[in-house]
Amino acid sequence: DRTEQDSEYFQCYSDITVHEEMLSDTVRTNAYKTAIFRSQGALLGKKVLDVGAGTGILSMFCAQAGASKVYAVEASTVSELACNIIKHNGMEGNIEVISSPVENAEIPGEVDAIVSEWMGYGLMYESMLSSVLYARDKWLKPGGLIFPNHADLFIAPISDTVVEERLNFWSGVQDMYGVDMSCVETVARKCIMSKDIAVCPIYPENVLSHPVKFSTLNLATITLEDINDIRGSFKFCCFGSSLMHGFSVWFSVNFPGDDGVTLSTSPYGQDTQWKQTVLYLEEEVHVEQDTEICGDIRMSPSENNPRHLCVSITYSIDGGAQTTRNFQMGH
Ligand code: SAH
Repeated sequence: DRTEQDSEYFQCYSDITVHEEMLSDTVRTNAYKTAIFRSQGALLGKKVLDVGAGTGILSMFCAQAGASKVYAVEASTVSELACNIIKHNGMEGNIEVISSPVENAEIPGEVDAIVSEWMGYGLMYESMLSSVLYARDKWLKPGGLIFPNHADLFIAPISDTVVEERLNFWSGVQDMYGVDMSCVETVARKCIMSKDIAVCPIYPENVLSHPVKFSTLNLATITLEDINDIRGSFKFCCFGSSLMHGFSVWFSVNFPGDDGVTLSTSPYGQDTQWKQTVLYLEEEVHVEQDTEICGDIRMSPSENNPRHLCVSITYSIDGGAQTTRNFQMGH
C-alpha cells in the first residue's frame, strides 16, 4: 500500500550514494545556487520552506542568500546528516531541520518561498511534485516564490546506435561459434526495444528532427489533477535518412527572477544525472528527409504505485495507421 511504498521510497534516500550523485551533478546544483543567490533581494530576511532537503544543501544556499528562517523538511534518515552539516557550518540559528514527510510537518505560519529539487527521470518519475504542490497550497504566501517555478517537457524522434549494434549482433548470428542463433532475433528485439522507459544519454547527432515542447507546467498554478494527467502532441519533420528507434523525452526547469536561471536536461546541453529518457518503438523504422511523424503523448502515475510512471504514445508516420504504445518506469 501507499505507506509501504513511501517508506521504500524514503529508504532509498537514506543512502549516501544518491546524495553523492546529486551533489556531484554540478549543472544541477549550480543552477539552484545561482538562482537562489540571484534572488538575494527577494529572500533577504524571509522565511523559506525546503521540500525534501536531503543533505540540506539548498537550505544552506537560502541561508547564505540572507533568508532569516529556513524549514528544511526531509522524510528520510538523511535528515540526521543535514542536522550535522548545518551545525558544522554554523547555520543552525537560521535553519530548522524537520524530520518528517512534508505532508505531516508542522510549520508555524506562512513562508515567503519554497525551494525543492523534486524532478525525477522524465521529470515525473517518483511523483514528488505532488508534495511540493501540497506545501505550496498549505504554507506559501500568495505571490510567494517557488524555486523552480516552471517546467517544460520536450520530445524528439531519435536513432539509438547502441540498440542498433545490439540488434545487429542478434541478427548476424547464423554463425555463433559454429552454432546458428538467428531464431533468437525476435525475442532479442522485444527485450532490447522493451516498453520499459530507458534512461541513457542521447547525443545531438541521434536527434532526427527539431524537438517539440509538448507540455508546460506553471508551478504557481498547476494542480494535482493536472500533473496526474499530462498530455501533449507533436509533429516532427525529419532531417534526413536514418533508422528511428524511438522517442526521447527530456525537460528543463526555470527559476524566478528577471535574469532567471534555466536547468536543462536537453541532449544539446551539458550532461546531468537525469541523462535523457527513451521510449522505444516495437521495431525500428526508416525515415527520410521530411518524413512526418505526428502523435500524442500522455504521462501519468502508475495505478499500482503512484511513484512509478506510465507514458502512452500514439503516433503515425507520413499519415499512415496510428500505433499506440504504453511504457512504464518502475516495477
Ligand atoms: N534538496 C536535496 C535533495 C533532493 S532529492 C538536494 O538538492 O540535494 C529529494 C529529497 O526529498 C530526498 O532526500 C527525499 O527523501 C525527499 N523527499 C521526497 N518526498 C518528500 C516528502 N514528501 N517529504 C519530505 N521529504 C521528501
